[in-house]
Amino acid sequence: MMSSQKHIVVIGSGVAGLAAAVRLSAAGFKVTVVEANSYVGGKLTSQDLGAYRFDMGPSVFTLPELIDELTAVSGIHQPFQYISLPSICNYFYEDGTRLKAYPDKEKFAAEVAEKLGESKESVYKQLRFSGLLYTMLSDIFMRQSLHKLSNFLNLKTAKAILNIGKFKMNKTMNEVNSANFKNPKTVQLFNRFATYNGSDPYQAPAIINIIAHLEHNIGAFAPVGGMHDITKHLHSLSVQLGAEYKLNTRVSKILLDGNTVVGVATSQGDIKADMIVSDADIKHVYGKLLDPHHSPRKILEQEKSLSALIFYWGIKKEFKELGLHNILFSGNGEAEFRCVFRDKKPYHDPTTYINITSKVTPTDAPAGCENWFVMVNVPHNASGKPIEYVQEMRKHIVAKINRVLNTDIEQYIEVEDVQDPYLIEQRTSSAGGSLYGNASNNKYAAFLRHANFSSRIKNLYFCGGSVHPGGGIPLGLLSAKIVSDMIREKEGKA
Ligand SMILES: Cc1cc2nc3c(=O)[nH]c(=O)nc-3n(C[C@H](O)[C@H](O)[C@H](O)COP(=O)(O)OP(=O)(O)OC[C@H]3O[C@@H](n4cnc5c(N)ncnc54)[C@H](O)[C@@H]3O)c2cc1C
Repeated sequence: MMSSQKHIVVIGSGVAGLAAAVRLSAAGFKVTVVEANSYVGGKLTSQDLGAYRFDMGPSVFTLPELIDELTAVSGIHQPFQYISLPSICNYFYEDGTRLKAYPDKEKFAAEVAEKLGESKESVYKQLRFSGLLYTMLSDIFMRQSLHKLSNFLNLKTAKAILNIGKFKMNKTMNEVNSANFKNPKTVQLFNRFATYNGSDPYQAPAIINIIAHLEHNIGAFAPVGGMHDITKHLHSLSVQLGAEYKLNTRVSKILLDGNTVVGVATSQGDIKADMIVSDADIKHVYGKLLDPHHSPRKILEQEKSLSALIFYWGIKKEFKELGLHNILFSGNGEAEFRCVFRDKKPYHDPTTYINITSKVTPTDAPAGCENWFVMVNVPHNASGKPIEYVQEMRKHIVAKINRVLNTDIEQYIEVEDVQDPYLIEQRTSSAGGSLYGNASNNKYAAFLRHANFSSRIKNLYFCGGSVHPGGGIPLGLLSAKIVSDMIREKEGKA
């Protein structure tokens, strides 16, 4: 290592930590990623159960160009393999209505018109609104720091401010969607995009409709070997660029000299660093790795996003009516969100998501079988104690699947595992097992996420789902870009 080469320690190898490792190594820094687990990827990991392979966390893949960009930044010729999906999702309602969502707008509008009785124009209008939000706001809210004044002094921001009336800032997502569609089933379909960042459509502002733009106007994608390919790809690029990984190594303290970072204390000894990029949940960082007087209490007290209860089932049967993504809607969407967000309990008739990667990657299950990832949204676990409702919810989920798909699913389950909010927290240190950091249940949420840098501690940076711009793979990747651009600019490597 050249003596002038600055050393950056990345805490955590979630998708944002991996992306930061790629970018910072490519920029010429010496990078060491310190990871508590025996594997990289954080929530974006995978496991085998018998002859079945399962992605353990994320399943929806959008904006693949963000991965392509990282490959380009690395300068390594190793294309990331993914396909564009001909259909986005299969929707099932309790009354027997079934609908397929297509990325082809005309086909989708025709399907919604036929199955739900809406006008095609109402579908186009909804997608135009999502597109407008994305065009006007994504650069401002997703691709730059919200905590630097200079980022607001540009034409794009001025234009967005002039158009603010069009964003329906004072209305909730549900209010806007209910005004556009006459059938509550269509409203339920578009409301569900709030859960993509762990929020409640009955509280979240209408601008969260921006999320539908990704799948419906840009397209839905799938990595050819499953979501875990993303982790493998970014890990491989960073290692080829020289990043070093210390697995089974937990950071116990961020070491400071005055208010400047000097390294980390870990379960394997101290590591010196010129800069630290933390991909760990911000609550964990302030709660465990820094002294209490550093804590920005207001930010840490924000409402957390949803968590999930997931069953991983090897199913010895093929279901022709199912695809890669399938949603079995609750009979009462409003009651479900009220129960999960206001009462902070799981709901007895939960919207049930079934992801089956063997539909795209047949080797993920034996011939004639399918790998089911069955997920329902539940509140984050504020108690810190093991979850008690797992078996009760399992019964509700099995009953729902039997009812809606007209089957008897128990007899086909040959292997099983489960993950709940408690286990998610144990495995990733995410506060209460929340999937996406803070919820976006109010119009100021974007401004209430932690910045990508510490204003009190010099050379400490933050990426990942719990800080700006938010949770989910695309935003995690963008947080790593924001951090890496800041560091490069500061170090004169921009
Ligand atoms: C069930 C589930 C479904 C999801 N579905 C989707 C989806 O479909 N699409 C989507 O885009 N997103 C989805 N998400 C969200 C997405 O997974 C996350 O937003 C994203 O993966 C978070 O990445 P991250 O970089 O914040 O790090 P994380 O994945 O949270 O990883 C943080 C890492 O830091 C390590 N760490 C923490 N503290 C320390 C320490 N003190 N010392 C050393 N290491 C430490 C942890 O061990 C962990 O490996 C889902 C998440 C889950 C759990």
